[in-house]
Amino acid sequence: MTESADPDGLDTTVYYDEDADPSMLDGTTVAVLGYGSQGHAHAQNLADSGVDVVVGLREGSTSRAEASADGLRVATPQDAAAEGDIVTLLIPDTVQPTVYERIEPVLEAGDTLQFAHGFNVHYGQIEPPEAVDVTMVAPKAPGHLVRRTYKRGEGTPGLLAVYRDATGRAHAEGLAYARAIGCTRAGVIETTFREETETDLFGEQAVLCGGVTELVKAGFETLVEAGYAPEMAYFECLNELKLIVDLMYEGGHAEMWNSVSDTAEYGGLTRGSEVVDREGMTEILEAVQNGEFAREWITENQANRPAYRQYREAEQTHQIEQVGDQLRELFAWDDSDPEEA
Ligand code: NAD
Ligand code: MG
Repeated sequence: MTESADPDGLDTTVYYDEDADPSMLDGTTVAVLGYGSQGHAHAQNLADSGVDVVVGLREGSTSRAEASADGLRVATPQDAAAEGDIVTLLIPDTVQPTVYERIEPVLEAGDTLQFAHGFNVHYGQIEPPEAVDVTMVAPKAPGHLVRRTYKRGEGTPGLLAVYRDATGRAHAEGLAYARAIGCTRAGVIETTFREETETDLFGEQAVLCGGVTELVKAGFETLVEAGYAPEMAYFECLNELKLIVDLMYEGGHAEMWNSVSDTAEYGGLTRGSEVVDREGMTEILEAVQNGEFAREWITENQANRPAYRQYREAEQTHQIEQVGDQLRELFAWDDSDPEEA
């Protein structure tokens, strides 16, 4: 375990394999509800770590055959939850409250309800009974990487949070689960449901998904509207982004700045901040913190997603998508990860 005090005085605890006691899962059955991105990875990694697993899927689900073919036991979500001592909800966040209603009656005192994202608990969409432990083990990676790295004897970093500890075992059990899916091989950071939910929503809105696509589109449009070729704008604003991000991922900003020309470095350092709206970012964070965004998204789902459909349509028909489709077809470059083949 490493503890480090960051400059703001917050303590971060990171756990590794030796901090987890695998025997916490002896005699434990884990019900993994859902067999999508996270579900298939948790279920198979747990099983390979010697944990008893049952996968909960609806009668008509196409994932049923897949889970069976992977050698796992499959039951209905209700039956799996009844059998499970730990019930992990790995179905889309928007359908979790409905499925939870059906499994709540079979949760027993001392069971654990576990999540990979805190949205529904943090915003009060799921309120588990007092006698049930509520935890989160959230790999910070998509499921296929959680599975692939585990098979290589490695792991992906993860988060651990305890929302309710009714049994006194919640933390140690969560750590054992994180170990069984491979996360303590890479490092597991202690957090809370609030911190995970709010940083996750903020990050995907302001920086990762929303921020990056808007930045790319704005750059593309600025060049195209000024009369430059859309193909040039595509390569400059979208394609090269991967090269830049790969360098940041490997060695931080320093490696990126070292790898580009001094002209790019000076221009970037002096001009970059002009395109970032810090007040806008603060407003995004406030809407996450005060629940305004959550209410909007819950209402949007209840109304069958009218705005979501419109935004999605506009995004899909943006010129950069057409130009990109043509160019990727034309050049057919291969930058696939040889390890994936
Ligand atoms: P997903 O969309 O891949 O999961 C789909 C699974 O849910 C399928 O097995 C499907 O059969 C099942 N499902 C869908 N609708 C259902 C319904 N109405 N009733 C019952 N089952 C239904 O989900 P995911 O991306 O693995 O996300 C699961 C959880 O993990 C979420 O809480 C998510 O926030 C979290 N998470 C995801 C990632 C990621 O990279 N995908 C990373 C960290 C955390
Ligand atoms: Mg049970």
